[in-house]
Amino acid sequence: MKTGEKPGYPRFKAAHRFDSVEWPSDGDGCRWKPDTNRVYLQGVGDVKVTCHRPVKGRVKTIQVCRSGRKWYLVLSCDEVPAQPLPRTGVLVGVDVGIASFVTTSDGEHVDNPRWARAGHARLEAAQQRLARKQRGSNNRRAARESVAARHRKITDRRRDFHHKVARDLVTNYDLIAVEDLKITNMVRRAKAVSDPDQPGQFLPTGQAAKSGLNRSIHDADWAAFVGILKAKAEEAGRRVLDVDPWHTSDRCEACGHAAQENRVSQAVFRCVACGHVADADEHAARNILRAGLALLAAEQAEAA
Ligand SMILES: [Zn+2]
Repeated sequence: MKTGEKPGYPRFKAAHRFDSVEWPSDGDGCRWKPDTNRVYLQGVGDVKVTCHRPVKGRVKTIQVCRSGRKWYLVLSCDEVPAQPLPRTGVLVGVDVGIASFVTTSDGEHVDNPRWARAGHARLEAAQQRLARKQRGSNNRRAARESVAARHRKITDRRRDFHHKVARDLVTNYDLIAVEDLKITNMVRRAKAVSDPDQPGQFLPTGQAAKSGLNRSIHDADWAAFVGILKAKAEEAGRRVLDVDPWHTSDRCEACGHAAQENRVSQAVFRCVACGHVADADEHAARNILRAGLALLAAEQAEAA
C-alpha cells in the first residue's frame, strides 16, 4: 500500500509455510525447566528435551524450530559467563580463498572439505527425483523430505567444520585479523579491461566466475564462519579485527608496490617491481595481519 498499490486478497497461509515459533521472554507463555530438561509451552504442555549441551547463563528467549521431521528447541541466553583462554601471545592474519578455505599468516592452509561436492551431487539427484513426482502424491511428499534431509546434512557438516576451524584459531591466537566482509565483496569485482586489438571490446576478466553461484555460496559461507569465529572469540576473551581489504592481495610485502599484475595466478604472487615471490594466499594473510596490527597501534595511540 505504501507504494500506491491496491491491497490484494490475503494469501492463504498453509501450515508448511512456517517452521519456527519464538517466545520473546522465558516465563511468558513458555518456560524452560532446567531440573527436568523439559520445556513448558502454553497450549501444549511439558515437552521433553534432549539436551545437547548444558544451558549456561539466564534463558532469555525460547524458539521452537522444525526441520524436516525433527524439532529443535533454541534457547538464547543472557549473562553467559565468559571462559577466557590462557594468552598465547601470538597474533595472526587470516585470508579466505577458493582453493583453501582459510590460510593463516603462519603459512597454514585449511582446505575446503572434500565432502561438499559429493553432498551437493546427492542433493541434486534428490531434487531431480522430486521433480518427477506427481504433485500432491505421497511419493512426492517422501521425495520432498529426502531433499530437506540432504540440505540439512550439508548445512550440519558445514557448520561443524566451521566450528572446528574457529575453535583452532581461537585456541592458538590472541588476536585474529580478517578482511572486512562488507568491503571485500565490493573490492573483488574485476575491472573491465578494453581489448587493444578490437576497440569497443573487452578482454575476459573472469567476472562471470567471480559473480557465479559458487562465489555467492562461498561468500555466504565465509560470513557464517566469521560469525562463529567472533562468537567463540568473545567467549574466550580473544579479539577479532576487521581490516580494510584494500590491496591486501596485490600489494608487495617486500617493497610496497601495488599492482594487479603482481598476482600472476590464483596461487602465486610475484612482484613486478622487486621480483619478490610468495604463495599468494599466505602473502595476503600476512598483509591482513599487518593491517590488523596497524589498526591496533592506532587504537592504542588514541587510548593513550
Ligand atoms: Zn616488491
